[in-house]
Amino acid sequence: MKVSLAEIVEGQLKEVDLEIEDKIRVLSYFGDEIPLVTPVVFKGKAYDANGDIYIKGIVESMAEYSCCRCLKKFQQKIIGEVHEKLIKEHSPKAEVDEYFLIKNNMIDISEIMENTLILSLPMKIICDENCKGLCLVCGKNLNEQACDCEKDEIDPRLAKLKDLLQ
Ligand SMILES: [Zn+2]
Ligand SMILES: [Zn+2]
Repeated sequence: MKVSLAEIVEGQLKEVDLEIEDKIRVLSYFGDEIPLVTPVVFKGKAYDANGDIYIKGIVESMAEYSCCRCLKKFQQKIIGEVHEKLIKEHSPKAEVDEYFLIKNNMIDISEIMENTLILSLPMKIICDENCKGLCLVCGKNLNEQACDCEKDEIDPRLAKLKDLLQ
């Protein structure tokens, strides 16, 4: 989705409020696809500070994750903060990847929203801090049901040592 910043680029306004809703279906992140189950909302503003144009605001949506321990699907709000300098096309910095470009007085707000959400993804996706995960032997979800499998509960440091000895 493109948003016009003409009034700021041309100097009529110093600041414009932006409230944008866009549909981004999935976030692609290192080969993982994380579905977004609600539209992505951006609330913030674009403003001119001494001739440089910035965008600032909050991006929000609801993501559907799969727990990395028990594989259960769960939904969780995802919120990211944007504060980026926007670079005008044809300016010397326009080639630099890390900036968002203003082309024909427009910015690609979807790209900014998507990037912000990807950076805001949790490091570790778990349904609950106390998630017990799946049994490595029988595959049961141990949050729902205990099992009687024999598990080698070896201290990971000792396991390393055991590997070395073999
Ligand atoms: Zn889990
Ligand atoms: Zn088991």
